[in-house]
Amino acid sequence: MKKDYYAILGVPRNADLDTIKQAYRRLALQYHPDRNPGNREAEERFKEISEAYEVLSDPEKRRQYDLFGVVSSAPPPSADPFTQVVEEVFETFFGTGRRRTARPQAVRGEDIRLPLELTLEEIATGLTKEVEYLREMRCEVCGGTGSAQGTVPSTCTTCGGSGQVAYRIGGGFFEQVIYQTCPECKGRGFRIISPCSACEGKGVRARMHRQLVEVPPGATGGMTLALRGAGHMGPWGGPPGDLLLEVREKPHPIFIREEYNLLYEAWVSYPDLVLGTTLTIPLLNDEKLTLSLSPGTLSGEVFRFTGKGLPHYNSRKRGDLLVQVHVWVPKRISSEDKKLLELMRQSSAFQPTPKKSEKSFLRRFREFFQK
Ligand SMILES: [Zn+2]
Ligand SMILES: [Zn+2]
Repeated sequence: MKKDYYAILGVPRNADLDTIKQAYRRLALQYHPDRNPGNREAEERFKEISEAYEVLSDPEKRRQYDLFGVVSSAPPPSADPFTQVVEEVFETFFGTGRRRTARPQAVRGEDIRLPLELTLEEIATGLTKEVEYLREMRCEVCGGTGSAQGTVPSTCTTCGGSGQVAYRIGGGFFEQVIYQTCPECKGRGFRIISPCSACEGKGVRARMHRQLVEVPPGATGGMTLALRGAGHMGPWGGPPGDLLLEVREKPHPIFIREEYNLLYEAWVSYPDLVLGTTLTIPLLNDEKLTLSLSPGTLSGEVFRFTGKGLPHYNSRKRGDLLVQVHVWVPKRISSEDKKLLELMRQSSAFQPTPKKSEKSFLRRFREFFQK
């Protein structure tokens, strides 16, 4: 007979995984045999809930169940799904996972997050930068032990130095041994009898620290560069955290960046467009490029220099440099210039007669970026 797993968990048929998980946790805690000793009904209900969860939490099994009403494939022999779901319940219950091996936990230092401002020039070439920050480092007074001079920490009597305490829960089929971080020593396995006064027993103190950072080319805004082990040092000799550098980009005075492409706007006079000219285009690395405009170049035309943009991160590829030509329109002109322009205006050669093929600048510009 087909069981309605959705009804068992009390979720709608279109419930997402989070909803299913939440419903399962709530019910599993309610009907867990440890909470209902000797109650056969609760035990049956718990098994049913676990079975429903096992199917509905697995996209493939859920699809099969939705289609055929049954799940044909047997669970993989290596993993016992029942043990797995029970473990999950305990995780919810105690906030810790089950640990089969008990050993003191080294306390890892915390990560440090810093903003890292880069110019486009720095992004183009990569660089070695020195950053300075407040970092918790080994206390020089106690040498990182946290104990005052001449004293030694004592083994934690609550956990016997293992850092964890064990609880036995349930009985028979449901018996479980639960390991929890020792509440007395917080998992360290020892207690400091007389704390170092300089670091208050933590073994680390905050000091200004200078760190050289290798910034690879192409590290762009929004990226986080992680420097393993350059974060706060762990107390009592624990491993250090990481230094996380959040890259921010300084706006550039002349280039606009569009992913790995650079856009440069070249302003030219109207005669330059009509007669043709040669432009000098600056690059980020102080080099220069020459752009020849042929007579009759349109204002808004875009020229592409392949590979002259920004480098891709961790790759040899480079973006392009796009130069868009704009006609410069003066705000004030002399009376002689005005006369000249009046003559031009009357000449038939200067009347706009665009052909269909001469697409709007905006459209051509978009096409360039879509390539
Ligand atoms: Zn100290
Ligand atoms: Zn302990």
